[in-house]
Amino acid sequence: MSKLVDPFQRRIEYVRVSVTDRCDLRCFYCMPEGFHGFEEPEDWLTHDEIERVVRAFTAMGVRRIRLTGGEPLVRKNLTGLATRLAALPELDDLSLSTNATRLAKHAAELQRAGVSRINVSLDSLKPEVFKEITKGKLEKVIAGLMAAKEAGLSPVKINMVVMNGINDDEVESMVEFCLEHGFTLRFIETMPVGDTGRNATDHYVDLADIRKRLAKRFDLLPGAMPGGGPARYVRVAGTDMNIGFITPISQHFCDTCNRVRLSVDGTLFLCLGQEDRFELRPLLRAGISDAGLEEAIRTAISLKPERHEFRDKPDQVIRFMSMTGG
Ligand code: SAM
Ligand code: SF4
Repeated sequence: MSKLVDPFQRRIEYVRVSVTDRCDLRCFYCMPEGFHGFEEPEDWLTHDEIERVVRAFTAMGVRRIRLTGGEPLVRKNLTGLATRLAALPELDDLSLSTNATRLAKHAAELQRAGVSRINVSLDSLKPEVFKEITKGKLEKVIAGLMAAKEAGLSPVKINMVVMNGINDDEVESMVEFCLEHGFTLRFIETMPVGDTGRNATDHYVDLADIRKRLAKRFDLLPGAMPGGGPARYVRVAGTDMNIGFITPISQHFCDTCNRVRLSVDGTLFLCLGQEDRFELRPLLRAGISDAGLEEAIRTAISLKPERHEFRDKPDQVIRFMSMTGG
């Protein structure tokens, strides 16, 4: 079957699958406090439907799936879904993005289910700052991270959204923490996604400045990581620790974008920063054939825009990151 190629000749080989738009945290740049506009359970794709869509993508050359949300571990029996997806013969890489609050309980079973790699959001190592950003408890996340390490999930990547006046004083201590535990660290620029994201851009930091600052304290060499996606990596000399910089704002990476996102209600979002979308759920529930599903996915991919416009049109994206599946 022919591969998926978008109108700008980019091969689509990676799908981020959001299994819920709900979350047990409220990171202020992502989801507003008191928000209740979640998708209704009858509109969530079932495990069967998710597996069917992922199977269709793998038949067209997609080799990597990341489970995300909202907080994916809020969805019941995520391990069961992971087991089914990991068993798809053409899938090479099943990974998970999580806030880790529930990871202590699930890390070992997820590893056994076939989840190979995890990304964990961690913006602060100070309990009071962590609480200010997320409304949650840092100790749960640290317990989750230690369980992931213990379970042999590798690499564990820490994602830190760097925000001026909030946690930018912690970048060095986050490097030390990751060095100590053998974690990869990625810094992320705040994106104007939804009102929450736009409000947070008051705290925007250009990561080029963070890199210069780190170079004063650590000996940084050019680095690389397989499957690293849009991050540009450096390596801390004398260690095998990689530090990535994800710079959607200061240096966008749309030319090499290889991904699309499936939201919990079965909508394919073609770009994080644009409204282009294609709804698969009505087709799935109307009994579409496998050939029809393939055709629908190809139509969706033909809608993929060339690039986001976070800089030129920061007011554009109405939905929050947790709705799309970040
Ligand atoms: N709940 C999981 C987590 O936090 O890792 C997975 C979903 S979360 C939406 C995925 C990533 O999106 C997190 O690393 C989070 O920090 C990031 N994110 C959310 N809103 C953002 C924004 N406005 N700008 C930059 N990153 C954002
Ligand atoms: Fe939840 Fe992740 Fe959004 Fe934070 S970034 S509110 S943990 S979905």
